[in-house]
Amino acid sequence: MTATAAQAPNPSISDTFYTSLFEVDNGERIRACLQCGTCSGVCPFGYLMGFPPGRMIAYLRADRFENVLESDTVWMCVSCYACTAVCPKEIPLTPGLMTRAKEELLLEGNVPTELQDALMNSQRYGNPLGESPRKRAEWTKGLDFDIPTFREAKRPVDVLWFVGDYPSYHPRVQLTTKAMAKILRVLGVDFAILGPEENSDGDSQRLAGERGLFEMLAEKNGKAFGKYEFNEIITSDPHAYNAIKNEYPKLGINFPVQHFTEFVADRIDELKPHLKDIGERRVTYHDPCYLGRANDIYDPPRKLLGAIPGVELVEMTHNRTNSLCCGGGGGGMWLDGFQWEKAHVRLSEWRIQEAVNVDADILAVACPYEPPRFEDAAKMVQGAGRLMVKDIAELLADSLKMEE
Ligand code: SF4
Ligand code: SF4
Repeated sequence: MTATAAQAPNPSISDTFYTSLFEVDNGERIRACLQCGTCSGVCPFGYLMGFPPGRMIAYLRADRFENVLESDTVWMCVSCYACTAVCPKEIPLTPGLMTRAKEELLLEGNVPTELQDALMNSQRYGNPLGESPRKRAEWTKGLDFDIPTFREAKRPVDVLWFVGDYPSYHPRVQLTTKAMAKILRVLGVDFAILGPEENSDGDSQRLAGERGLFEMLAEKNGKAFGKYEFNEIITSDPHAYNAIKNEYPKLGINFPVQHFTEFVADRIDELKPHLKDIGERRVTYHDPCYLGRANDIYDPPRKLLGAIPGVELVEMTHNRTNSLCCGGGGGGMWLDGFQWEKAHVRLSEWRIQEAVNVDADILAVACPYEPPRFEDAAKMVQGAGRLMVKDIAELLADSLKMEE
């Protein structure tokens, strides 16, 4: 990108796109790209992308961004932050370059149909699954204790639990949600949920290029937060955590927030007396991209696992900053068919293979995208027959269960 080109009276599409990246936090660092290729090298689908991050920057510099817009392989990006984590110039590749490129592809109409459906559902129903907003709190049925909504509670509470889309609606993930509810109850937390007043956090829609939709969803949630009195928010979902912590404040929506694992880890001494031995189990932990690389939360989940009697924590080859993506982030949940067509491999299967390699009994997770993705993948990986996939909340609740 030359100064001459940037000053031209009719800036090219490359110029316009390039300078728009400066609006992202630290976006101007893109000027310092060394073309070292490290970002493209760590990208899980870099070998399939016509334009992994380093190459995309090269094309921008050559004033050939229109070539990027003609390719659909940018949709192989699962917003995993692996490139961002390794870039020696600390260029915000995931939140800047890749997300902005998806925004441009959406504007061009170059978007896979299955992603369009999820975005349309989010617009219409406030969740990507196309479920009725009125059924958002139906998961609470069948619990032997009440989960109040703010509307019902009609009083200030300590904690607003932002439950999230998949934890509210997905049958497998609802088991995790119920386990979380049980733990909050044992800890005596004064909490309430928004129920039908909750909308999708919008973070995955944002990362999939739908900034306008993200802002609409964030504003609805911000309005709901503003109606009630509480001291802090906790989220089941790392993507919701990321949105409320890092993105909502840019829209003037400011509330203290913790992920469930952080919140419970801070109270582990209160929980420990309730935990009983679950029997000897080799447990390995999958760092979700939006707890780990995006937000540096590595220790609280491990602290919780370490507190469960009987658990032997073992690490997979890729852990912490080097964790492998499950493939669900950044709209990946809604691009499985498209990505399968291109890759004929699933990232979730690579991760299951790593868990098998360390002879784990249990793959512990902390993101609602993961139990269904990994359980499905385990069916396809040789030697994974006995591997169980459990959210950390489920493991804690299993340990509580034995007390009763
Ligand atoms: S890792 Fe950073 S400096 Fe290296 S090519 Fe990628 S964006 Fe450029
Ligand atoms: S965010 Fe992940 S998938 Fe996307 S370009 Fe970077 S490394 Fe590749």
